[in-house]
Amino acid sequence: MNIIDLHCDVLYKLAEAKGSLRFGDAPELQANKSRLQMGKVKVQCFAIFIDPEIPSDQKFRAALEQVDYFYHEVLGKNPDMIHIKEWSDFDRLKIGQIGAMLTLEGVDPIGNDLMKLRILYQLGVRSVGLTWNYPNLAADGAGEPRGGGLTLFGKEIVAFTNEQQIFTDVSHLSDRGIWDVLELANYPLASHSNARVLCNHPRNLTDEQAVAMFKKGGLIHVVYNPPFINETGKAEIIDLIRHIDHFCALGGVKQIGLGSDFDGITEFVVNLENAAQHTNLINELLKHYSEEEVKGFAGQNFLDHRPGMKK
Ligand SMILES: [Zn+2]
Repeated sequence: MNIIDLHCDVLYKLAEAKGSLRFGDAPELQANKSRLQMGKVKVQCFAIFIDPEIPSDQKFRAALEQVDYFYHEVLGKNPDMIHIKEWSDFDRLKIGQIGAMLTLEGVDPIGNDLMKLRILYQLGVRSVGLTWNYPNLAADGAGEPRGGGLTLFGKEIVAFTNEQQIFTDVSHLSDRGIWDVLELANYPLASHSNARVLCNHPRNLTDEQAVAMFKKGGLIHVVYNPPFINETGKAEIIDLIRHIDHFCALGGVKQIGLGSDFDGITEFVVNLENAAQHTNLINELLKHYSEEEVKGFAGQNFLDHRPGMKK
């Protein structure tokens, strides 16, 4: 079962540790390479996430620093990690290789400068989330009480992601921002979000948003973070599966995937505590769904809805 995990924060941790962590096997990394191998991960997405505390004029440098870790630590020291730059690269991965794709979690590092986004695209970013939890020049995040949608600049960004045929990610956006992206983006997805009706958190999607996402041909990748799974903040694998069940009931059986958020979370689903344990989720899913359906959740649904594929 080949797993495609749409979200981890390994690059943030590598940059924070200033070179003291090895991607290959550092136990501090929930999604280090050896754990990805044990968990049968075929493709891992690596988010660029910039700490909101970093002064605005230093954010682009901080983003480039994470890209540098991606190139010299993740790819450079691990010849079996293969950089995914084209949508067809997924089909060329050989046995024993793991694909690695860059994503952007919030456009804060580009300020109001689309040139910086074009550079990040050139460096390999293939999915752009407009915000983290706070507002920026593109939109309001899920944690901003004002609840604004996309600014004109935010809409320019979506025009860019459409033109380049890359994903626009709604995870972390305000509700209005999500609706704007669903209207404007050709390739929307939620890289790490669950169902709000099961766990009332602004990071989760309402049923209306989920249905609109599926109608648009987009993807929803469920996140392994207990506060987004249960309002008690504690969760077992079966509780995460309830979110998958719910999205299936809304018509998404072929558009659901996984977005662990490893190395970005500090609380864990029992027995789903690092990338080696993806297999525990897969084994539990196989008790509830057909092998074909579970293959879809693991990664095939994503492959089928990549830009460039017939919808
Ligand atoms: Zn996140």
